[in-house]
Amino acid sequence: MGRNIGSSCRLCRREGEKLFLKGRRCSTEKCGIAKREFSPGQHGLAGQRKKNSNYATQLRMKQKVKRIYGVLEKQFRNYFDMADRSKGVTGEVLLQLLERRLDNVVYRSGFSESRNRARQVVRHRFVRVNGRKVDIPSYHVEAGDIIEITGDDTQRKEFREVSKLFEDRAIPEWMEVAAENLTIKVVKLPARADIGMNIQESLIVELYSK
Ligand code: SF4
Repeated sequence: MGRNIGSSCRLCRREGEKLFLKGRRCSTEKCGIAKREFSPGQHGLAGQRKKNSNYATQLRMKQKVKRIYGVLEKQFRNYFDMADRSKGVTGEVLLQLLERRLDNVVYRSGFSESRNRARQVVRHRFVRVNGRKVDIPSYHVEAGDIIEITGDDTQRKEFREVSKLFEDRAIPEWMEVAAENLTIKVVKLPARADIGMNIQESLIVELYSK
């Protein structure tokens, strides 16, 4: 599947806020949005952020969520269709499906500095789910799953070091992390309140329901 290969900071600047796509750099003065808060491109001049129409606001919310989770349009639309067919509240189920992705779980647990890096960790077969290697970043975890980060001694040491660097990142209540053992237990599926973030999922539902 294709991925965004352009500048991550450009994506943040387009959405006008930090999306934390680059890990440790995002908390430094090197952060692209801290330096230049206006949109990229020739029409994104400083101080000229446009007032959005309803449609544009909905579209921007959808783009923002896609960018946070690193998901392309087709897959995002598939998640929406799955959520729409479910019995739950569509917007909440959509976010829950995104949170349950294996790459997101590795990121949330603190073993990876960004979702992008977590995706590589999964793709490079460093992750086991219930004892089985899984190299599909979009794999959906279930309540009760045990996820283990593997590798040789050097690689495991690196994962522990990353975990220490990001130990002030709040671990969501729906997972238990044993940093020393490099394991994560999914204790329950994420509820909307566990996901946090400045997201108005109802705007995405409105956009796709037109
Ligand atoms: Fe976004 Fe991180 Fe780049 Fe800042 S450093 S603009 S938060 S990706």
